[in-house]
Amino acid sequence: MLSNIHMHTHFCDGGEAPVKYVHAALEKGLASLGFSAHAPAPFECNWALPSGRLKEYINEIQELKELYKSQIQIYLGLELDYFPDILSYSQNLLQSGPFDYFIASVHFIDNYPDGRRWTIDGPNEEFRKGFEEIFQNDALTVTRKFFEYTRKMITDLNPPVIGHIDKLKMQYRPGSFIPEDHPYFREELLKTLEVAQKAGSIVEINTRALYKNREETFYPGQQVFKEMHEMGIKVMVNSDAHLPHEITSEFINAFNALSSAGYSEHYILKDNIFQAVKLPKI
Ligand SMILES: [Zn+2]
Ligand SMILES: [Zn+2]
Repeated sequence: MLSNIHMHTHFCDGGEAPVKYVHAALEKGLASLGFSAHAPAPFECNWALPSGRLKEYINEIQELKELYKSQIQIYLGLELDYFPDILSYSQNLLQSGPFDYFIASVHFIDNYPDGRRWTIDGPNEEFRKGFEEIFQNDALTVTRKFFEYTRKMITDLNPPVIGHIDKLKMQYRPGSFIPEDHPYFREELLKTLEVAQKAGSIVEINTRALYKNREETFYPGQQVFKEMHEMGIKVMVNSDAHLPHEITSEFINAFNALSSAGYSEHYILKDNIFQAVKLPKI
């Protein structure tokens, strides 16, 4: 049974109108799909949904939900960022519409001296600027900060789903940052996964880096799938699609890797609840 609830349309930084993703989902035989626009940011952010279009986004997804209800289950969601200094901003956003779910993801972890927020999810040049100005190129500190933030996010927001839990690794460049198999990175990641397990959150296996050829693995990487299974962590596979044809990209590899690590089921959003279903054989 296939599903994907991590998708971006032209309402934020995705490339197409929501209906195109519905058509792609029908073609691939998905049981359900969810739209997770980057939640409006409380500052200038060119990849988030503009707050002035939030209502339009909600209305459009609600209309599609109704229109296609005999063919597929459609869910209205947000990919929510974490700003510990203005936690109520995120909480108010969630209450501002009839959202079915949200995915909590860390994209920003600190501020420049002038107060501008620094993203770890932009181009490498932007990453390197903050890495130098805020962290004086100290990879250990930035790694610790990223995962500390993620753990705080889990505790503060209690998210149903955690997005790309170790996305910081996308900024790795040989010799300049810590790769995933570095003991320090691994230790921080495992500590964070433990917090996710305690919170009962589902950890998404995000396939985007793989089909965009940015990594040789997922967020998080299959290097920790065995430990995740032993910890009893619930997982779901999402593609973080920014285009309709990416809707199930690298799902087969993710299901196979989970299965090799001992998993027999994954979670999908169906009939309005997150429920475990057998890993598909595709
Ligand atoms: Zn994200
Ligand atoms: Zn995303």
